[in-house]
Amino acid sequence: MLMIPGPTPVPENVLLALAKHPIGHRSGEFSQIMADVTANLKWLHQTTNDVLMLTVSGTGAMEAGIINFFSPGDRVLVVHNGKFGERWAEVATAFALDVVEVTAPWGQPIDPTAVKSALNADTTKAIKGVIVTHSETSTGVINDLETISKDVKAHGALMIVDAVTSLGAVNVPIDAWGLDVVCSGSQKGFMIPPGLGFVTVSPKAWDAYQVAKLPRYYMDLGKYSKGAAKNTTPFTPPVNLIFALQAALIMMKAEGLENIFVRHQRHMHASRAAITAMGLALYAPEGHGSPAITAVSSVEAEQIRSVMKKKFDIVLAGGQDDLKGKIFRIGHLGFVCDRDILTAVAALEATLVELGHTGFTPGAGVAAAAQVLIK
Ligand SMILES: *Cc1c(COP(=O)(O)O)cnc(C)c1O
Repeated sequence: MLMIPGPTPVPENVLLALAKHPIGHRSGEFSQIMADVTANLKWLHQTTNDVLMLTVSGTGAMEAGIINFFSPGDRVLVVHNGKFGERWAEVATAFALDVVEVTAPWGQPIDPTAVKSALNADTTKAIKGVIVTHSETSTGVINDLETISKDVKAHGALMIVDAVTSLGAVNVPIDAWGLDVVCSGSQKGFMIPPGLGFVTVSPKAWDAYQVAKLPRYYMDLGKYSKGAAKNTTPFTPPVNLIFALQAALIMMKAEGLENIFVRHQRHMHASRAAITAMGLALYAPEGHGSPAITAVSSVEAEQIRSVMKKKFDIVLAGGQDDLKGKIFRIGHLGFVCDRDILTAVAALEATLVELGHTGFTPGAGVAAAAQVLIK
C-alpha cells in the first residue's frame, strides 16, 4: 500500500488499460484517444492553454518549463522553501540562467510579501520569470500561489509553477490565476504510473518561446503543440500510459473537480487530527499543510517507517536531505479513499504501541480521523 507522494496507488480500471496491446501511434484510433485525452486534460487544468505531454518524470517537465522560454543569462526569481524548490534553482543554474532567490526555511510557507518586495525592487524588469513550487512535497507545506501569482502578473514576468503534487489534488485554476507555465507528472495526482510529464503554455509564454535561445530538441514544446493540434505527438509516445491516462481522466470527470479537492482536504484534516491525537508533532504549521501530503516530526521516523512496512505493508516516505531521520511523510494524493486513511492511522497507532509509545490512548488517532471523515 503506497502512501508516498508518488508513485501513488493506481485504480484497477487504469491497470487494465495498461495491460492492453499497444496500438500504432500514427493510427486514427490513437488520434481519437489523443483528442479525448487533450480535451480532458484541459478540463483538469482549468485552462484553454495548451496542455502538452512529454515522456518524462516531473523533473523533465520542469526542465522543459525552463529551456523553452529563456535565453542564457536571463534572470529568474526562484521562490523556494524545500527540496523541490531548490531543484528549480539547480535546473535554472544548469542552463546558465541568472538565478535570484526568495526563500523560507524548510517547513515554513513562503511569505508572499517577500516575493512582492523582490518584484517591486526590480524596476528595470530584469526578472523574466518567477518560479514557484505550489505544494512543497519535501515538507508537506502549501504555498499561497494565488497571492504570489497576482503580484507576478502585475510585474509582467512569466509565472512558472511546479504543480506536481497540487494538480489533481488542490484547486489550481490556471486561467483564472494567469499561470503561464504549469508543470506536473503522471505518478502524482493523475492516478497512473510514472512516465508522463505535463506542461501548460499560455499565449504569453509562447511569445517568450519565440525569442528564447536555450538549445532544445526532444523537449521543444513547439513540436508537441504542432502535434497536439493534429491529435498526434512528434515522437513515439508511451501509448499504454496514454490509455491509462484516458481511463484515469474519465474517473476524475465522474468524481468532479470540486469533489476531488474536498476529498484531499478531508484526508489532510483527518491525517493531521490523527497525528495530533497520537501525540506526534506535525511538521507543517496549521493552515499551511498540503492536501497531498502530511509530514510528521519524529526522531523515530525511520523505525516507524520500517515497522509500517514490515508489519502492515504500508509504505510511508522519509525525510530528504537534512530532514532524513527527522520526519516521515504520509502521502494522501490521487487514488486514496477514507478507508485508506483509517487503515494507515490504525497501523500507525499499532506501530507506536510496538515502539513503546505510552503518551497516547490507543484508538485516539482513529477516533480523531473518524470524526473528521464523517463530518
Ligand atoms: C515528485 C515531484 C517532482 C518531480 O519529481 P520526479 O521524480 O522527476 O517525477 C517535482 N516537484 C515536486 C513538488 C514533486 O513532488
